[in-house]
Amino acid sequence: MEEQLIGIMGAIPQEIDGIIAILQDKTATTIGNRTYYQGLLGKQQVVVVYSRIGKVAASATASALLLHFRVSEIIFIGVAGGIAPHIEVGDVVIAKDLIQYDMDVSPLRPKYEIPLLNKTYFETSAMRSNQVKQHIESFLDPAVLHTKIASDELKKFAIDQPKVYVGTIASGDQFFSTDIQKENLQQALPQVLCVEMEGAAVAQICYEYQVPCSVIRTISDKANQEASFSFESFVQKISQVYGQEIIEKLFQ
Ligand code: SAH
Repeated sequence: MEEQLIGIMGAIPQEIDGIIAILQDKTATTIGNRTYYQGLLGKQQVVVVYSRIGKVAASATASALLLHFRVSEIIFIGVAGGIAPHIEVGDVVIAKDLIQYDMDVSPLRPKYEIPLLNKTYFETSAMRSNQVKQHIESFLDPAVLHTKIASDELKKFAIDQPKVYVGTIASGDQFFSTDIQKENLQQALPQVLCVEMEGAAVAQICYEYQVPCSVIRTISDKANQEASFSFESFVQKISQVYGQEIIEKLFQ
């Protein structure tokens, strides 16, 4: 039987550098302005890549993973802005499903529906999401977290008892950095837990290729006027550790 290869994506280097660092027997291939690192995580062959930002960049990268590397599954890992009021910086959201909040061909079709697919929400792999959830819960246990990230760093972001949630993630080509953007999305799609710029695009491509997909997002900011400051320092100091810990545990 052909060995299965799993694709692991992030949008920016800080989301996946920690994973590339622990790959064994690594080789690098550059295609279309992206570098794909193939190697071993435990016994699992994986390809790790950062797609760059936004739905177009993410879809192109997911397509290369599927067509060139023939991956059997894609796991996206990264950061996002919290939308639901109970979501805090340092929490993790695992997508149950994803929606492209900036797709709108109404009145021709219902708002948010992807034309010709007749689909609005893209579901993720329940099996992988459940497995990931268990690993994240053990990593987020304060007794473990404080051995991985310095306590003064956790304090800076007021990360105290971080939690993991499973629910809807919204994606679109906008960085949310004002209260008004956040309020508009909360009103339009009240079930959304967090916002980012790639996940629903990857989920759409995986749906079309009939390959399982999961999207895991650590909350770097609260998608409001403090978002740019919070995002920049979170990705410098914390997101790599989350990414590495979550992915490494999956393949031990
Ligand atoms: N620092 C980058 C821009 C990052 S855009 C640059 O200067 O080029 C933010 C990235 O993090 C995107 O990949 C997106 O998926 C995620 N993200 C985090 N917080 C977000 C927010 N508040 N709104 C939208 N996307 C967010």
